[in-house]
Amino acid sequence: MTAIPGPKSQELLARKEAAVPPGIGTTLPVFITRAGGGVVQDADGNSLIDFGSGIAVTSVGNAAPKVVERVQKQVADFTHTCFMVTPYESYVQVCEKLNELTPGDHEKRTFLVNSGAEAVENAVKIARHATGRQAVVVFDHGYHGRTLLTMTLTAKNMPYKHKFGPFAPEVYRVPLAYPFRWPSGPENCAEEAAEQAIDMITKQIGAENVAAVVIEPIAGEGGFIEPAKGFLPRVAEFCRANGIVFVADEVQTGFARTGTLFACEDEGVVPDIITTAKGIAGGLPLAAVTGRAEIMDQVHAGGLGGTYGGNPLACEAALGVLETIEEEDLVARARRIGDIMLPRLRSLQERFDIIGDVRGRGAMIAIELVEPGTKEPNPAAVQAVVKRCHAEGLLVLTAGTYGNVLRFLPPLVMPEHLLEEGLGILEKAIAEL
Ligand SMILES: *Cc1c(COP(=O)(O)O)cnc(C)c1O
Repeated sequence: MTAIPGPKSQELLARKEAAVPPGIGTTLPVFITRAGGGVVQDADGNSLIDFGSGIAVTSVGNAAPKVVERVQKQVADFTHTCFMVTPYESYVQVCEKLNELTPGDHEKRTFLVNSGAEAVENAVKIARHATGRQAVVVFDHGYHGRTLLTMTLTAKNMPYKHKFGPFAPEVYRVPLAYPFRWPSGPENCAEEAAEQAIDMITKQIGAENVAAVVIEPIAGEGGFIEPAKGFLPRVAEFCRANGIVFVADEVQTGFARTGTLFACEDEGVVPDIITTAKGIAGGLPLAAVTGRAEIMDQVHAGGLGGTYGGNPLACEAALGVLETIEEEDLVARARRIGDIMLPRLRSLQERFDIIGDVRGRGAMIAIELVEPGTKEPNPAAVQAVVKRCHAEGLLVLTAGTYGNVLRFLPPLVMPEHLLEEGLGILEKAIAEL
């Protein structure tokens, strides 16, 4: 309807700049008034195809009917009691569901918090308590949040860590099996990376000092890096053999996004603790820590919690999300999205050597742009393609340690004609570049 951003959005942007610090960035400065069905609509009446889902959050769609219905009823009944003061059933229902649905048929416990970072922090607290050890091992390209501990666990300096130190102690980083950039090639990647990681743990830290290994089954902010097959099972096995708590950070990959309910299932990896958030509650703030009962039950009464954790509105939203995933078979929908996107992007890669790598699973797909004929990261090309897509009404996000990855996270309910239209815009933007 207008240029992007239009006049109303520009006016609002000026107010934002006067009222909000620049540390809070903006990917695409259009102000949203309505969203749903894979489309966001802005204050100037423009409709944009949504390939971001608010960073993998609105997987069931924006304002999904089951979420809206449950939240509307709940908001009229009661809005908060604090679960630690006087509990309510929906919190327990969410925990029961997660205990049942997460990988592994062992006895589990779950508790609820407000954000992904808070979930990861709690996983580390519990692992330390349960093992009596302190060290935490994380990986190259990892992202775990923006609090003091979780930004320490995060790999990338700019923008997440720069000038925010000193960082939390006893955090150690080891190599990740990144097939596209593994020096000796993708064939040897899993084995060599696992060997290096385990060697660093045993020789530099001491396995007996390690409380937890924390890993994303597919690195999200790091650029949708799917570790070479065999890497995750090898690391999990090492943890089991050495009494280390294996924590899968599924904050971005969870809830059907990758074509399985949780990404760990792809290689049959069963984590000791799994952290979830983003896709859990259709946009209401909720996160969860789910783990083996014998680990979770170690912490003394009152040692965990928070005022808002498992807020009743967010719990109702989560129950609506889980119903929607099941009833609409969104696991299969995610796979179908991957089946549509991956071949289209691979044929684009054959035409344009600026596309170095096409990767991902289900509806968590990315392309890595390079200087043609090399593996040199090309963040400028990513910025140019993003700008063009935004101008043409396709909302896309970037990622990657080198800022050279375009990532696609469409809502799992997106109609196929919109998916096709979005891909068409993307193809045109790359062809023009
Ligand atoms: C987004 C994310 C986090 C942090 O979640 P917040 O809700 O933003 O605190 C942690 N881990 C992973 C893998 C994420 O993608």
